[in-house]
Amino acid sequence: MRPKEHGNKLKSKKMAKKKSDKKVTRVEGGSSQPEEQKSSGTFRPTEESKGKAKQLRLFAILSWILALGAQGGAIYLLFQPPVNMTWLIVLIVVDLILAIVGAQLWKKSNRLDPPSEKNSFLFFMQSQLGLVAAIIAFLPLIIFIFTSKNLDKKQKGIVGGIAVVALLIAGIAGVDFNPPSVEQYTEQTKYVEKINNNQNLVYWTKSGTVYHLESGCSYINTDRTDEIFEGTVAQARELKNITNLCSLCERRALKNNNLDKSEIEQEVEAEMESEAQGENNTTKTDSTQN
Ligand SMILES: [Zn+2]
Repeated sequence: MRPKEHGNKLKSKKMAKKKSDKKVTRVEGGSSQPEEQKSSGTFRPTEESKGKAKQLRLFAILSWILALGAQGGAIYLLFQPPVNMTWLIVLIVVDLILAIVGAQLWKKSNRLDPPSEKNSFLFFMQSQLGLVAAIIAFLPLIIFIFTSKNLDKKQKGIVGGIAVVALLIAGIAGVDFNPPSVEQYTEQTKYVEKINNNQNLVYWTKSGTVYHLESGCSYINTDRTDEIFEGTVAQARELKNITNLCSLCERRALKNNNLDKSEIEQEVEAEMESEAQGENNTTKTDSTQN
């Protein structure tokens, strides 16, 4: 790894960046290190990220299979009169926990190895598989509960209500409200590089919701913060699910480099279009570059 000072070597005669006097930690793992990501084209996860994502997906699927098992057990109970209400509720809760765990693992895997938006059906399925899994994990049971001949009205109201609420909770937990995509990572990285002297290097804090271009940004140099993390745009997303750039840092960078936001955005868009068109060629040349 290169020494921390490499940021100073930039040919920038522009205003110096504010440095933090807090502890700045370069994050490890996740996406490739900032140096390797320079002048990036389309975002590609590292082998390490891919491996981790694969593992998370396996565990997610395993959780969902176990959730289906819990649901199967609950349905089985419905056919064993008199129905054991306690066990029925226990199995619904187990089903719910497993569905949520699976969805969280699945969403994290997508942040490490995001799908492409090119095929909108596949993109939806991969991004929102947690929601799909929630429906599969509860809808059959709900139908069986309300059509069961072994439950009276009151019992149907109780367990049916619990199962519907569980479906809603699992469904909401399963939705990815801001699903990551290859295109989004590429776009955000390019934008940051363009306004940040070609550097894909950002800063964030443990509790932060935005990433910063300057470790000395006043928003993260408060008394509440004692450690600042440094990494790529993709790493901020992978590790902390941070998707937005600090508006103060953005304004400063645009002003210091005399840039116009909409112009940069157009540039990024144009690059992404041309890369999307020439993608088949670049994948071929990339493999020979190693
Ligand atoms: Zn900032």
